[in-house]
Amino acid sequence: MKNTCLLIFTGLVLLSCFACTNQKPDKKMSKTSAPQDRPAYALAIHGGAGTIRKSDMTPELEAEYLKALDEALTIGEKILSGGGTSLEAVEQTIVYLEDSPLFNAGKGAVFTHEGRNELDASVMEGSNQMAGAVGGVTIVKNPIRAAIAVMKNSPHVLLAGEGAEEFAIEQGLDTVPNSYFFTQKRYDALQKILEKENRKTGMVTEPAGSKFGTVGCVALDKNGNLAAGTSTGGTVNKRWGRMGDSPIIGAGTYANNATCAVSCTGHGEFFIRYAVAHDVSARMEYLGEDLSTAA
Ligand code: ASP
Repeated sequence: MKNTCLLIFTGLVLLSCFACTNQKPDKKMSKTSAPQDRPAYALAIHGGAGTIRKSDMTPELEAEYLKALDEALTIGEKILSGGGTSLEAVEQTIVYLEDSPLFNAGKGAVFTHEGRNELDASVMEGSNQMAGAVGGVTIVKNPIRAAIAVMKNSPHVLLAGEGAEEFAIEQGLDTVPNSYFFTQKRYDALQKILEKENRKTGMVTEPAGSKFGTVGCVALDKNGNLAAGTSTGGTVNKRWGRMGDSPIIGAGTYANNATCAVSCTGHGEFFIRYAVAHDVSARMEYLGEDLSTAA
């Protein structure tokens, strides 16, 4: 991989967070990083597509995924190497992943129980602790852009549902009919789960690997500023306006220049309960742990 990447995984199945710090990996945390101690810039991404069984993964499909991930990294790296901000890198990288039908975000989002797509996204800047998020939006083409607009152009952090859509329209962001998010693969995945539900009585609540996926990006720019962003369709067959950790600052996304930038993917309810993204940062800040120990 061409980019300087720090990918940190927790040891838990289905729970992982991607984090990036402005500290050298072997350094103990200190409040501020001296410029000579950090890489010029850094970028890490995750492109969640649900669990794909080895038997379903053709060489062509694998090549398609790798190409898309590589392209996303290239987009972010170009911005950072050219002196762009970490926020710009996070935005453009995630927009690319949202526009791809391969990942569970934007165009490739999973379906709700009712057979539509409800999208969540969030963003945070490490330099000033500003953050924005949208939850349950159905017509916003690039939810990460709506999250950034909330951060920059509203006094709020999290907008949900119709209100968030109204705000996105006011902001002049691209909107699409909900059918834009239709992909056969995701629709079939919902049908499989619904069939299972019909055979049993009631809702299938067990998280299956194929239910998950999210995209995210953390970046460090040449000025030493961190940013984190996350975007997702959530979990297949979600219901009742369910939102996971992805639009929750401190759960699925967090950034603080004094510590790290974090974007999580996995079973969102756990990330919310344990405030995972903030906890990684807090461990670095309060315990002086390095990034990988904290993660
Ligand atoms: N964390 C996301 C959610 O729970 C899903 C995922 O990352 O796989 O909505």
